[in-house]
Amino acid sequence: MTTQQNLADQVVWITGASSGLGEALAKAFAAQDAQVILTARRVEVLEQVRQTLKSPERHLVVAADVTNEADVRHAYATVLEQKGRIDYLINNAGLSQRALIQDTTMQTERAIMEVDYFSQVFFTKTVLPTFLSQKSGRIVFISSVAGLLGTQYRATYSAAKAAIHLWANSLRAEVAEYGVQVSVVFPGFVKTNVSFNALNGEGKPQGHQDSAIENGLDADEFAQTVLQALAEGQEYVVVGGLKEKLGVLVSRLSPKLLYKMIRKTKVK
Ligand code: NDP
Repeated sequence: MTTQQNLADQVVWITGASSGLGEALAKAFAAQDAQVILTARRVEVLEQVRQTLKSPERHLVVAADVTNEADVRHAYATVLEQKGRIDYLINNAGLSQRALIQDTTMQTERAIMEVDYFSQVFFTKTVLPTFLSQKSGRIVFISSVAGLLGTQYRATYSAAKAAIHLWANSLRAEVAEYGVQVSVVFPGFVKTNVSFNALNGEGKPQGHQDSAIENGLDADEFAQTVLQALAEGQEYVVVGGLKEKLGVLVSRLSPKLLYKMIRKTKVK
């Protein structure tokens, strides 16, 4: 079965759709004739993205700060009113980190957890009644290879991405009997604005690109791979370069070897 057959007319809600992976996923889903709902904070940028999608009039911009519960509830009401159902929720909005533990304030620790863990939890709990009553749909979480490994300069980020992975595993077990499916995607390095926006220890954006991200996968290539994996019903999707895939493999075979590899790897 092709992705086209699976996705035509499906309602796909993507958070963090104003940039990077979310924008690339929006383009890829729209190209397969899905109806995309684009959410992020910057409404003008979302509108610009919508205009670049195939058949812009089919898609909907619903601005929300995912850390703001009132925004999320309001967005959910708007989506239900306009579309009446949700076939895919892609929890993608996120924020990375570039700071050593010793330099990261508690306020920054909490800010990263808020965006990368609690927001995804709240968003999913808010829309879950729709999935349960439909008895269908797929909830997707964009975690990270960092959440499978734990690396320098990304302690809180790795922890948040690991936490959402295991929360998603519990969700999958709880909602399977309702016909609702759950997938977790673990991207490696993909070329986006993630390192510009990553927080330093004081909670300010780093403001510059990292070489690993600059040399990472192309976001459109990432999106194509994810769409194919979701169309096949995959639940555990690692998308990255050879180095990240090797790290994931070693993490399963030998934690001791993994820790040694990570100590020697330059991740910033
Ligand atoms: P970008 O920084 O390019 O995009 C981040 C997106 O998240 C933007 O659309 C931003 O929109 C949105 N966002 C951030 N905070 C909020 C918020 N409070 N409310 C609503 N939207 C928000 O990064 P990526 O595209 O790379 O990141 C997307 C996801 O992929 C993240 O979860 C990230 O952790 C994950 N990831 C990325 C990797 C990579 O190498 N690129 C590797 C592994 C995981 P706006 O500013 O308009 O609100």
